[in-house]
Amino acid sequence: MKSFFKKMYTTLLCITPPNSSISLDSFQRLDHNRKRLLLKTCLYITFFTLFIFSCLHAFVYQGISNLAFLLEITFSLAALYGIISLTRSPTPEKIAKITTFSTLIFAAFLLMFIHLVPHQNFSLIWVFFFPIFAIIMHGPKIGLRYALVFLVALLSMTYNGIGYWHNGDWNTLSFIRLSLAMTILTFIIYVNEVALTNAKLQAEFSLEKLHSLSSIDALTQIANRRKIDQALFNAIQHAERYNAPLTLTLFDIDDFKRINDQCGHLAGDKVLFELVQQIKSSIRSTDSFGRWGGEEFLIILPNETLESARQFCEKIRVCIENTTFTECSTQITCSFGIAEFKKGMTEDQLIEQADKALYLAKDSGKNQIKIFSEIP
Ligand code: GH3
Ligand code: MG
Ligand code: MG
Repeated sequence: MKSFFKKMYTTLLCITPPNSSISLDSFQRLDHNRKRLLLKTCLYITFFTLFIFSCLHAFVYQGISNLAFLLEITFSLAALYGIISLTRSPTPEKIAKITTFSTLIFAAFLLMFIHLVPHQNFSLIWVFFFPIFAIIMHGPKIGLRYALVFLVALLSMTYNGIGYWHNGDWNTLSFIRLSLAMTILTFIIYVNEVALTNAKLQAEFSLEKLHSLSSIDALTQIANRRKIDQALFNAIQHAERYNAPLTLTLFDIDDFKRINDQCGHLAGDKVLFELVQQIKSSIRSTDSFGRWGGEEFLIILPNETLESARQFCEKIRVCIENTTFTECSTQITCSFGIAEFKKGMTEDQLIEQADKALYLAKDSGKNQIKIFSEIP
């Protein structure tokens, strides 16, 4: 309970600790948490308020048969059910379901309350909370629909009450005042929520762009050094934890300086791009492919034995050897070094072994594959 209030306080007041690794995921989680806490807060308030009033109606004011008591106890129990469900599984789907359920229950409660006790001023005070709740929780588009349907129902009831409610004190002017206040309030909340949603979308777009800039290589459009380093770290953690096979391939284009010299640096860039596109089509979704630097690339093959990794590299080697590149007609080949992860190895050790195998492939005449464990 203490942690709930602390979390609610920090979230509602937007006190977010600075997070150096904010990603799109964590940004969306923040919004999800905001809605979850807001919903939970509303449910707690509903539960406690209605429960206290139901007790007052049952024991202090008019006795157990009072309709207000039944209404209050039913809706307070509904709020309690919402709190329990939300605590058990606070998934986005569950939150969406409880939000819809709460909105309908909230609207029904307010309308029934007005219908049952229209002679009391306070039954109308609570209607102002409805558009605030509906638009914030459902977003501007769907929330506005709920708010407008509620407004129409409310206005038709209050219109019919002119001359009768509050011992005849509820007149046309009272009705116009209430209509105006509700419409203006709904409009303000709607505009505010639209602005918030736009700012959120803009922030999401910028984050996505930043993320792509920081992890994708601009020339080849595959993972850059930073991203492939992270992928290798994750793959090693997984292999270490589950004792799963993992192989690493480092390959380098042969005599690329000559290609640059013969066809020009720009053509060299295009060759790099085309070559990567060729290889990309052979990479499975579970593999990771990234530019290690210059014209050197890294492929992480989880769950692959040395033999299957060799076959995979052979397929790529033959494919590149037989490809005619549009910008440079000279034959292009690659050399490959493969290393296998063994328990306890670090990323640097694994890369060093693949690098040694690659250099042996270069020393042995290029356009071939070498495996570290086979080096004599
Ligand atoms: P080796 O067979 O031994 O690998 O010979 P190499 O000529 O490929 O030598 P090395 O790998 O050491 O040299 C890489 C060359 O690739 C040097 C650099 O000019 C060129 N290069 C690196 N990055 C790029 C790039 O983004 N675009 C172009 N066009 N060339 C690049
Ligand atoms: Mg090279
Ligand atoms: Mg190189």
